[in-house]
Amino acid sequence: MVKYLLVVIVVALAIWLLRGQRRRRRADERPVAPPQDMVACAHCGVHFPRGESMSAGGRQFCSESHRDEYRPQR
Ligand SMILES: [Zn+2]
Repeated sequence: MVKYLLVVIVVALAIWLLRGQRRRRRADERPVAPPQDMVACAHCGVHFPRGESMSAGGRQFCSESHRDEYRPQR
């Protein structure tokens, strides 16, 4: 149990450090990155960039399978 917690903490720290570095590097090299419009999947609620979305019936979906599985309640 303690080992598991340690692994989780180390992984979280590594991700946090990597993100910080990436953000800093991006800020140095490219000052302007167009902000991505985020949308939520109507089926599972996951947020993702609008550019990767599947739309059907005015709703956004994260994948083709969720678009096919989604049935609006009437
Ligand atoms: Zn989804």
